[in-house]
Amino acid sequence: MTDNIYKKIALKLHNYSKILIFPHVNMDGDCLGSSAALCHVLRGFGKEAYVLADDVTPHNLDFLESGVVTRDYDVFDEYDLAVLVDCGSRSRIGERASVFDRARERAVIDHHGVMENDAEFNFGIIESSSAATAELVYLIASEMGAEFTLPIAECIFAAINTDTGSFQHSNTTARTHKIASEIYGIPGFDGNRIVQLIYNRKSLGAIQLEGRIVSEMEVCCGGKVVLSAVTQAHLAETGTLMNESDGIIQKLMSIDGVEIGCILKEIDDKTARVSLRAKSYANVARVAQKYGGGGHMRAAGLTFEGTIGEAKAEIAKALEAELVRSNDEK
Ligand code: 5GP
Ligand code: MN
Repeated sequence: MTDNIYKKIALKLHNYSKILIFPHVNMDGDCLGSSAALCHVLRGFGKEAYVLADDVTPHNLDFLESGVVTRDYDVFDEYDLAVLVDCGSRSRIGERASVFDRARERAVIDHHGVMENDAEFNFGIIESSSAATAELVYLIASEMGAEFTLPIAECIFAAINTDTGSFQHSNTTARTHKIASEIYGIPGFDGNRIVQLIYNRKSLGAIQLEGRIVSEMEVCCGGKVVLSAVTQAHLAETGTLMNESDGIIQKLMSIDGVEIGCILKEIDDKTARVSLRAKSYANVARVAQKYGGGGHMRAAGLTFEGTIGEAKAEIAKALEAELVRSNDEK
């Protein structure tokens, strides 16, 4: 039955000519990879399509832009379809919401369970059991009869690889591996090349930053919760950008006995971004939602209005409460 939904979306997509694709703010591998892959698929059918971004693409994901990303809000005066990818709310696309609103029709392709219901869609899919939005793009593209070219293969593989933590997270399923294995069959595809591009191009400063953040971490709740903060001073000292700290949370999660990991990022003296991860039973999306954020049960994020110190104190308390609650629910 569920196969039908991919087919329905595939049939719909064939009806539009000018299409803009919207990844969420703070682009990650899945939102950019899924967006770019979808764009290549649509262009393959002769459509005019672009991915509209406004963040700077993180260095390790630069290859995913693959010639389809624009930052020009006026790339189309009028256009047929806006597609939200890897997010389901207007609030997740920042300033680009004004361009989203200009579309004749709207669609969504996402795998987040939490949405704000601040946008209306003509069609779409939100499948929270999917490990990555890229799985949905792959299945829709298959139903469209797309020719899977090398850029599509690379974008989808990178998206799946990053959103599953290299097939380690609990969201990984047999379908995830099946799609990955099919991608290995696409001519020219080299999985190791993509892995090297994503994970092994860090600057010296990024590793020094990682060392600092790991050595300054605080462990609480009997070793089950670990937090650390990345400040503007850390970035200045190591000559890094905030997005170079993105993988550090994985290091915290690798500690034996840790259930919840938290990285707080100082944006300025009034704003902190908070990344949350859970290993096996805690529901960090619940914590993120409490502060207006969202995500998945085991990977979520939020924006905190306050200093980094205030954010750390408040979020530590909320995580402790979540740990108690999720333990009770076990
Ligand atoms: P990250 O910690 O990598 O920024 O985000 C983890 C997950 O939570 C991603 O799936 C991301 O899309 C989601 N997420 C992060 N921040 C927010 C937010 O402020 N709002 C919502 N709705 N989701 C978020
Ligand atoms: Mn995703």
